[in-house]
This record gives sequence, C-alpha cells and structure tokens, in this order.
Amino acid sequence: MTISLPRGTDLTDRAAAVLAEAAAARATVVLAGHVQPDADALGSTLALAEGLRRRGARVLATFPDPFTLPPSLGWLPGAEGLVPSSAVPASPGVFVSLDAASPARLGELAGLLDGAATSVVVDHHASNPGFGDVRVVDPAAPATVVLVADLLDGLGVPLDERLATCLYAGLAADTGSFRFGNTRPDTHDLAARLLATGIDHAMISQRLFDTAPFGWLGLLSVVAGRAVLEADVGVGLVWTWSSTAEAAEHGLPGEQLEALVDVVRSTQEADVACVLKGQDDGSWSVSLRSRGATDVARVAMALGGGGHTLAAGCTSHEDREATMRAIRRELSAGA
Ligand code: MN
Repeated sequence: MTISLPRGTDLTDRAAAVLAEAAAARATVVLAGHVQPDADALGSTLALAEGLRRRGARVLATFPDPFTLPPSLGWLPGAEGLVPSSAVPASPGVFVSLDAASPARLGELAGLLDGAATSVVVDHHASNPGFGDVRVVDPAAPATVVLVADLLDGLGVPLDERLATCLYAGLAADTGSFRFGNTRPDTHDLAARLLATGIDHAMISQRLFDTAPFGWLGLLSVVAGRAVLEADVGVGLVWTWSSTAEAAEHGLPGEQLEALVDVVRSTQEADVACVLKGQDDGSWSVSLRSRGATDVARVAMALGGGGHTLAAGCTSHEDREATMRAIRRELSAGA
C-alpha cells in the first residue's frame, strides 16, 4: 500500500489515523529508530511506543544491531522494554521508522518496510529520499520528536512526565539545547508544554550532555591535540580522528567519540569540522558539521551518507587519507 499526500498537516493526520486504526484493532505495531540511535531516534521511538500502548496496540520497540545503548540514553523511560530486532515479527500490522534518513539506516530492520501491512516513516532529515507507505517527513522540523508530539496529539494521548522526558531528550539534543538555527518559535512552545508536565529538564540535559567518565579528558586532549586546520579547503576545514580502540585505551565506550565533533566545530577559522571515527570493523564513521556556509548534507550524500544541511555523516571503507581526500574534493567542489 502506498499513500502519497502533499506535505503538511494532512500527512500527520493520515499517519495518526493509520496508527489509531491499528491500536483499535489491537494490531501489532513495530517501531524502530536508526542504527546506533541518538536521543531523537530513541526518544521518538519510546514516546510513540508508549502512546500507542496506551491506545491499545500491541507494541514492540526496537532498533538495529548492535543492540546496546550508551549510558547517556539507557535511562530513558521505557528503554528497559526495548526488544532486540530478532524478537520482532517479519510481517507486523504496522511498522514505524523513526528518525531514519534512509532504509539503510534501519539495518536488518529495513525489510519491515515491505514486510509490514503498512509502513509509516517519521523523519526530519533533508536527505530523506522518501520511502515507506505513509510519510511524515518534514525537513523543517528540528527533531523527529516534534513530529511524534503531533502524532500523539492526533492519537489523543495526553503528554505526561514519562512521555515528555523522552520527547524533551530528542528536542534538546537535535536543537543543541535550542542553540541551533533549526529552533523556531513553536519549538519553544513544545518545550514549554513538555516542561509543564513536571519533567526534570536539568537532569535530562546533564545526563545527555554533561556526563562522561574521567577518561574523556585524556581522550579529548589527545584527539584535540592532533587536529589539523586546512584554511584553503572550501571555506576552511578543521579535522581530527580517533577510533573505538583509542577510546577503549581511555576506558571509554566507542559512543563517546560522538561528542568529539562538538568540541572541534567551535574552531573559528574553519566553516567545516570533520571527525573520523575508526570502527571495530576497520571502517571510518565520519561526522561533518558546518558553521553555516557549507551544505554538509551534500558532501555526506556524495560519499554515500546523509543528514542535515549543517550536520551530516557518512561511512568510509577507504583508509584515512583516501577518506580525507574525498572530503576535501567535495568541499572544494562546493565552494
Ligand atoms: Mn533527529
């Protein structure tokens, strides 16, 4: 079944109707965020799962392998009820994809897009090519949790502290705590609604952004110390690299590498910040950030990845120097 509708409120209404119908029929609904879920993917998944459960649906919430969550996210309400991808049926009534910019980001769960009687795609990435039967895809939304809040409203599920904690985590993460340009007046309206439920927003932010083992300081000093500034590439490039193995030397999980780019991107002389993160399988996971003058989603897409205009990523199976040559080439082409 393919349902094509113009973007806007109709889409959210249509998706909410599909979900309400599934809940009323006690159908099985499988929800999943993207691989290595962040606060937006996980907050979206957990909030919509809980909302649908309250409406009577049989809900299974999952995410692609590896089935592990970092400590910064594992405490979110409902995370303890997540099931591994191997535990979900191949042909549920409804499959909901959350915050995944492409089917590939769903890993082994991508088959559910066709396996489910109806698939619903909820996302806000500019690079989303359009997939799934019912699409709530809005690149103007600062976070997928914003779209989930609309769906919960459409389902008639009132926001309480539990739901609001999940939604606020995604909203704070994807707006950089309301610092990024994607923050709009209605973003603060939603934040106000969430705070009004009584959530401990200071605790949420501290757990998400301001908590790391002492070893983080050692890793940071090494990785920041090897950063390279290339002012002649594009509108300026600053880059560095690390690896899961190096993180482990400092007693840190590989997930801690994600925070490196937030330090590197403050470099005044470079519009683009890039961090190469070596993975256990030898590939490089690449984080790209722009201070405003460069469309890094275009760069990431040229290298097989995707994301947002000012924050994107890709995976490279080349070595470090070949990966950087490809990035320099794309940055120079777009300048
Ligand atoms: Mn997101």
